[in-house]
Amino acid sequence: MDENLFLKGRVAVVTGGSRGIGRAIALELARRGASVVVNYNKSSEGADSVVREIQAIGGKAAVFQADVANTAAAQGLIKFCVDTFGDLHILVNNAGITRDTVIMMMSELDWDAVQDTNLKSTFNCSKPAVKHMMRKRYGRIISISSVSGQMGNPGQTNYSASKAGQIGFTKALAREVASRNITVNAIAPGFVDTEILANMTPEMLEAAIKMVPLARMAKPEEIAYAVAFLASDQAAYITGQVLGVDGGMAMM
Ligand code: NAP
Repeated sequence: MDENLFLKGRVAVVTGGSRGIGRAIALELARRGASVVVNYNKSSEGADSVVREIQAIGGKAAVFQADVANTAAAQGLIKFCVDTFGDLHILVNNAGITRDTVIMMMSELDWDAVQDTNLKSTFNCSKPAVKHMMRKRYGRIISISSVSGQMGNPGQTNYSASKAGQIGFTKALAREVASRNITVNAIAPGFVDTEILANMTPEMLEAAIKMVPLARMAKPEEIAYAVAFLASDQAAYITGQVLGVDGGMAMM
């Protein structure tokens, strides 16, 4: 077997796979041989183009619209995956948003939207996925957290709390399901060059880069390589961990 295709026969769901980091993750998992369900909420064109790109390299992919902040919709996503590809081995909880502002200006809506999209979605998707994986006695759950959840970031109390929440969730779930051969890990990226940073001014970006020992932003692909590794059989003995892919920012 081609050793590059180390995910051949695996089936993955990537939430928020239509753009940015999720797009890169969906493409990398497919390049490694996995069949991929590309979830999106609003960017149907982006999701369709990811599926087309995967099919163009001979891979299998399907698109599924679901607002993963919604419990029933997230359950529908996991069901779609199992109905379409007959299995689910890898869940990547990637969907996320920011609603940055200082606490005095932060509305309850800004708080709730970020918790629901970033953290509740992780519960919403992981619960039905775990149900399937426990029966199959195999699974890989990988959540895309952030250095913001490890270090805190001013103007991001909502986002930092949601990302720290994903880390606690990861550690607790890892302990719950380890005996069923399911690993649960998180990745904590630093600054990654995607649309999520669109609200940062050039001055803010320059200040941000000064915090990075490697002195640059990450490319989305650099997060995807770490996901592919954690999804692989080579990572079978790694669970409950937070892998920093942050150019040295946090060094936890
Ligand atoms: P992005 O370019 O803004 O993409 C966000 C993705 O999430 C899109 O595909 C979007 O799909 C999807 N999404 C948002 N709300 C959703 C919902 N309710 N249901 C389903 N999908 C939803 O952001 P990104 O930079 O790639 O971020 C991806 C993840 O990495 C996030 O969890 C983010 O917090 C984390 N992260 C990013 C950075 C960074 O610097 N970029 C750093 C650390 C961590 P639609 O367009 O279809 O809504």
